[in-house]
Formats: sequence, structure tokens, C-alpha cells
Amino acid sequence: MKTYSYSRIGAYENCPFQFKLRYIDRIKPDTEGIEAFMGSRVHESLEKLYRDKMMAKDPQLDELIDFYDVNWEKKFHDGVLVIRKDYTSDNYKEIGRNCLEGYYRRYYPFEQAKTIALEMRIEVPLPDSEFKFIGFIDRVDQRENGTYEIHDYKTSSTLPYQSEIDQDKQLALYQLGIEPLWNDISDVDLVWHYLKFDKEFRSKRNRITLEMLKEEIVKKIYEIETAESFEPKESALCNWCGYQDLCPSKKHAFKVADLPPDAFIEEDGVRLVNRFIELKNQKKKLEEEESRLKDAIYRYALREGVDVINGSEYRLRIKISKKPEYPSKSRDEERYNELVNLLKSSGIWEEVSVFNSNKLVKLLDTKQIDDTVANSIKTFEEIVEYRRIYPSRLKDDES
Ligand code: SF4
Repeated sequence: MKTYSYSRIGAYENCPFQFKLRYIDRIKPDTEGIEAFMGSRVHESLEKLYRDKMMAKDPQLDELIDFYDVNWEKKFHDGVLVIRKDYTSDNYKEIGRNCLEGYYRRYYPFEQAKTIALEMRIEVPLPDSEFKFIGFIDRVDQRENGTYEIHDYKTSSTLPYQSEIDQDKQLALYQLGIEPLWNDISDVDLVWHYLKFDKEFRSKRNRITLEMLKEEIVKKIYEIETAESFEPKESALCNWCGYQDLCPSKKHAFKVADLPPDAFIEEDGVRLVNRFIELKNQKKKLEEEESRLKDAIYRYALREGVDVINGSEYRLRIKISKKPEYPSKSRDEERYNELVNLLKSSGIWEEVSVFNSNKLVKLLDTKQIDDTVANSIKTFEEIVEYRRIYPSRLKDDES
């Protein structure tokens, strides 16, 4: 049975190309962001804290911080990247320590509930499919009143709204994973610890939501399984992506990032882009000037009452004419529809409407045309390569 984790589904949603490299081509990135590195160290420290507690050992704060510091040094490697230029790895190390201290002081002596499992692997078979969902729960507790709690530690820098917590799918899926395992589960709390903010969020899921969630996940997995292309999807997350050297959208920036200024300006790609933009700007200026000049010529022709103006080697004939126009869909949809209905009812529509190839492609792509008809239409299809260049300004964080 093929397995899907929450991070696997999330990777596809964030960037299909990254998903392909990681989960289909199975390429391991050489780098990891410092935030993820710090998150792992905090997670393993909290795991140790609760393991000590389970072993009847009173967890001590200085021991916890020592454990964190030692692992930080032992596991730190050259591929850990600090993306935010104003901060160093020591800043992040300190943030991790603060997270642990805050958590320790808030919950000591950690007797809010009994810990049942740590870093627990769960599996959820998904209905009518050959897939199952898998995940690892940071901690499962049970309170004295019998309520189970699924705990998740977060070291992220943004605090979610309660409404987002109430929509979160990851812990709801974990609930589906633990429910079949123990007979006394009737009530489950989902608990998030946003450690940087010393905040705890709680939420519950009802049966209908959980069943709908399974269907939603199956649908998403089928979308991934049947995907035909895995295009790069650029976002702020690219800065933390370990595949920039392989990604068509980031490879060039990666290649030139460390070039000294002289070599950068002479690099072939950089030169081509700079020249292209230079010409585009010149063209824009010329077009603006041409437009102003045309206005001046029309005004001159009207003022002088002439329709031909002579220059040194050329002459210009000026034609000013008027022709009727009818509403277009983009300008006035209501009037356009009225007109179309009139033309259709008068039997003129066929004569004046134009075949729209783009619309046909869209109907075929979204499977809105019956298969037999679609197959017949496809016999007329010819694949034509279009080339387009879209300039955009580099954002500060990309330069
Ligand atoms: S750099 Fe950005 S666009 Fe490229 S693979 Fe990574 S996340 Fe996707």
C-alpha cells in the first residue's frame, strides 16, 4: 500500500517541482534551513524531557538545556543555511533555548496528563483507495478524565489564528490514526504548542469533519498521482528550498549568486537580460514618443484643414474615420449578452461569432467535453511551440 505523509502532500501543494525531486526522483538536498535544524533540536529535547518523566526521573531544566546544546553542536553541519542576513546561527540557537525554557517553566512538573506515547507512528488506511496516510505524533497524553490529547510542537515565527487552528488537517488526521488503537478513546483534544510565543492552542474535530477529511485527502492524493507535469511554483519558501541548484526557476540565480561584481555583469545570462531590458525600455520610450507625435500630427491636420502633410523625404496621409462598435464581453457583459441573445434569436449568430481555440483547449483540459467528441476533436490538434519572455523586477530578497 502506497503511503502519503502530511509533509509529502504539503510539498506538492507548495511546489510540484520540489515534490518531484524529493519524492519521485528521491534526490536528497545537501542543505537545510536553520529554522528546520533548530526545530528538530527542540523536538528531540522535548522528547527527552517526557521520556525522563515516563521513566520516573524528574526533568531538570539545566539538563534539558545541556542536552539541547550538546546535540546542537554535534549535529550542526556545513549545509545548515541561515537565510535571514541579519541573524546568525547563535541567534537561532538562543531562540531554541528560550522555547525550551519557556515550555519548562510553564508546564513543570509536567503532570497535566499521563504521557502514553512519544514520536508515535500512526497509519490511516484511506477509503476506496490503495493509499494510506502515515504520520508521527510528537506526543499522546491522556488526562485523568479519560480525554486523549494529541500534542504538536511548533517553533515557527508566525502565530496562527484560532480559526486556522480549527481548520488544521494534520492533527485531525493524527486523531484518525490513534482512534482505532485504544478502546477507551471517546474524546480527543488536539493541542498545539507555539513555543516561541509560549502559547497553547486547543481544538476538537467532530465525526463528520473527520470522515470528510479522509475523502479530501484521497482526492488530493489522486490529484498528485495523476499529475502529468510538475512545474516549479515560486514563493517565499524558495529561499529555504534545498533544490535551487536544480530548479529551472532558481538555477541561474543560484549560479551567479556568489560571482564577484565584474564576473556577474559579464555572465552570459546577466548580459542578455540586461540588454533585453535596455531595449524594451528604449522601445517603450519610443512608443510613448510616437503616440505623442501622432496626437500632434492629428491636431496639426485639423487645425490646418489638411489630410496630407509633407516632410523632407516622406509625406503623411491622415485619415480620420468613424465606425460603429458593439459591446464586448470584457467592457459590458450585460449589454454583450443582450446583443448575443438578439443575434441568436435572429439566426445571425453563426455568421458573426468566431471560433475560439483557447476556449476549446480549456474545455478539453477541464474534461468538460464528452470523451468520444473530445477524441474526435483531438485528431485536429497540432502542438505548436510558443515562446514568451516575461520580465519582472527582482525583489530585494532575490537580488
Ligand atoms: S526553488 Fe522554489 S520553485 Fe524551485 S523547486 Fe524549490 S520551491 Fe520550487
